[in-house]
Amino acid sequence: MSMSINIEKCVGCKLCMKKCPSGAIRFKENKAFIIDRCTSCSMCMYSCKFGAIGRIEAETGVEALTDMLAYKGVWVLSEYKAGTIADVTLELLGSGRQLADSLGVSLSAIIMGEDTGEAAKTLIEYGADTVYEVEHPSLKCFNDEIHTDVFVQLVRMYKPEIVLIGATVYGKSLAPRAASKLNTGLTADCTSLEIDSERNMLLQIRPAFGGNIMATIICPNRRPQMATVRPKAMKALEPDRARKGSILRPVVKVPCEVKLKTIDSITRRIEMTNLKEADVIVSAGRGLGSYQNLGLVKDLARVLGGVVGASRSIVDAGWIGYSHQVGQTGKTVRPKVYFACGISGAIQHLAGMTSSETVIAINNDPEAPIFKVAKFGIVGDVLEVLPALITELKSRWGSIT
Ligand code: FAD
Repeated sequence: MSMSINIEKCVGCKLCMKKCPSGAIRFKENKAFIIDRCTSCSMCMYSCKFGAIGRIEAETGVEALTDMLAYKGVWVLSEYKAGTIADVTLELLGSGRQLADSLGVSLSAIIMGEDTGEAAKTLIEYGADTVYEVEHPSLKCFNDEIHTDVFVQLVRMYKPEIVLIGATVYGKSLAPRAASKLNTGLTADCTSLEIDSERNMLLQIRPAFGGNIMATIICPNRRPQMATVRPKAMKALEPDRARKGSILRPVVKVPCEVKLKTIDSITRRIEMTNLKEADVIVSAGRGLGSYQNLGLVKDLARVLGGVVGASRSIVDAGWIGYSHQVGQTGKTVRPKVYFACGISGAIQHLAGMTSSETVIAINNDPEAPIFKVAKFGIVGDVLEVLPALITELKSRWGSIT
């Protein structure tokens, strides 16, 4: 790939020369030209207000200028099953709304299913300006091939600059297939998204290197910029029932010759802790000392009408099941109150709970990192603090049910 300048459009403003980090742009007779120290970083293309700079795609062998500027708008791919929109879709609309507003573009949602009922209206209430609705019997169950094919057709048709997809089983299966077909990049499992206002580019932020750093990833040379986002990492907007938007039904070709076929769909009930829905979570860490002391955390959760969370240490130690684990390799939660009892606050744990409204930490080490994210901190022995707290709350609110 290399950069190319359209002399007709170049007005000689020299903005590209100022932005070029490699000093690869020169001017002759008030027209820009590029010398061979160019690294194809595309900064010049983003800086040019006259569309005079583009890219030549080497792999096609033809002078195909990738018109990245033709890509506009933010998209959220909805996850819709059995008449229900997944929570992560509503959360992505909340984040997508902010991104679209900072870019000054519209926010659209895609919904695919057999009969999507009133879902499009709901997506508008949660922030979408436009909903592209595709209904077809073959879209009833999730089939990687069919859903990806239809989604890719829509992207090619409407050219969004940003596409957000939930990092769920559905999204994790569809997004890489779609990105590969669209010949663009994909950042998986983002926990935060921002706009680089200088370059109008999506900053895709996610834990990396075992969670030891937060990496910011960009997709400067391809469109759309695609990211999957963890459930609960973003916040849904309050629905606005009066909100108006457009619902479009694009004509797409739903493929019928596919390798994957759904033979049967079995719904099985499994015992899960509903950490994601809970308003109050009381989480236990290794500071509890032993499995037997977990009873204190369970009692406090019961008094507060909450559920029990856990650090990975005690899940790995077999004190409690994985469905309780909060953090990078567990669940991302957003309760109103999060109690961290005997938890150090390792970055991998914080990755799952820092969006909680109020964090209350109990730890005997005043230097424990958990206190940095806590609104209230109690420095003390968890085995003394918890019984005192439970007794006090019980005396105020009545006995444990
Ligand atoms: P510790 O780090 O041992 O902390 C115990 C804390 O209890 C200390 O701060 C100590 O001061 C305090 N304490 C001790 N005794 C008392 C007492 N009597 N009273 C009060 N306080 C006391 N971790 C997660 O939680 N979730 C994840 O999803 C996760 N994913 C990971 C993914 C990767 C790739 C890796 C490498 C690690 C991951 N971890 C995860 C592990 C993480 O790095 C930490 O090891 C773990 O969170 C520590 O758990 P802890 O805070 O319970 O234990």
